[in-house]
Amino acid sequence: MSKATDQNHGTNTVLVQAGRDAAQQQGFVNPAVTRGSTVLYPNAEDFLAGRSRYSYGRRGNPTTNALSAALTAVEGGAGVVLAPSGLNAVTTALLAVLSAGDHLLMVDTVYHPTRHFCDTTLARLGIRTTYYDPALGSDIRGLFEDRTRAVFVESPGSLTFEIQDIPAIAHAARASGVAVVMDNTWASPLYFKAHEHGVDISIQAGTKYLSGHSDVMVGTISATEEYWPRVKETHGNLGLCLSPDDAYLALRGFRTMGVRLAQHHQAGLVVARWLEQRPEVARVMHPGLESNPYHPLWRRDFLGASGLFGVELLPVEADSLKDMLNEFSLFGMGYSWGGFESLMIPFNARNSRTASTWEPAGPTLRLHIGLEDVEDLLADLERGLKKLKPV
Ligand SMILES: *Cc1c(COP(=O)(O)O)cnc(C)c1O
Repeated sequence: MSKATDQNHGTNTVLVQAGRDAAQQQGFVNPAVTRGSTVLYPNAEDFLAGRSRYSYGRRGNPTTNALSAALTAVEGGAGVVLAPSGLNAVTTALLAVLSAGDHLLMVDTVYHPTRHFCDTTLARLGIRTTYYDPALGSDIRGLFEDRTRAVFVESPGSLTFEIQDIPAIAHAARASGVAVVMDNTWASPLYFKAHEHGVDISIQAGTKYLSGHSDVMVGTISATEEYWPRVKETHGNLGLCLSPDDAYLALRGFRTMGVRLAQHHQAGLVVARWLEQRPEVARVMHPGLESNPYHPLWRRDFLGASGLFGVELLPVEADSLKDMLNEFSLFGMGYSWGGFESLMIPFNARNSRTASTWEPAGPTLRLHIGLEDVEDLLADLERGLKKLKPV
């Protein structure tokens, strides 16, 4: 899984080394949590000339800068800014490229709160959104209008896990001067090299795998040289900053992201393959499965899979679905994912699709496979599935 991202170093080496300078930290391995608003200047000359490494708490401090530098090393763009949540990273990236009167192409399978932002706040600002089918590749060109400024991709799609042909979309967008903005939360920059595949601005809900412990809300935005000045300016104008405590926790998560993701990848595939053989299951929506229609695209562009995927069950009696969910002892029920624990939630994507169809045969579930022993997870799943009553 490791791939050189920094000279000759593999990804896990970069994760250990990046954004760290023990000499600047009195020899300590990790940076201190620097709390602060005011930064004192040593004299009037330096103050009047604005000469200092740090100017004000909101504009970055040694802890948040260490996290930005570390993330920049794995993203491979011009820089990374930090936001107080993943959703805030998405909305800031969109505000960085769109103006009143502009047109946005948004993938139909986008994370629902992103869709809501487009339909409410962006609409109020005079920015029009057209939703497109995630199966569109270079044919996206046919949807470009004079004022189309950005095409937003999220691959795999939220809840239903369709893989998009991002290189084809990026190629078409580049030819028309349209920015490609991506929500790369599922694969993270370790398993999908967004900028190498033509993405201009890539966001991550660091709340998920970067943090990895369900204890931080954080968003990250990485941009290419071309888009970095707009991203940085918009982020600054909106007054966004991440607390140094949260930056510290995210940086701690960063160091172990490679080994954690490798485990989520492996265990996720074991569970997905097991579920595929079960009589209760109609299909498993995991692009890493050879049987999945998006598998060839995933193999071509991705370096791995995370632990999040979907399952479509055969029709069952409604109460028996609740019985199943209540039976699990290792799968928690709750939003978010990317932490050490396994989760499962039922979902209905019907109300968040307008450009593609979503007609499952039976109930649909989203699973996050955590870091538990996979045999224990399979035993828990087996106990729960037995509660289902087919109709
Ligand atoms: C969770 C998530 C977000 C939002 O992140 P928050 O930190 O919860 O605001 C955005 N996109 C995707 C794909 C997510 O899974």
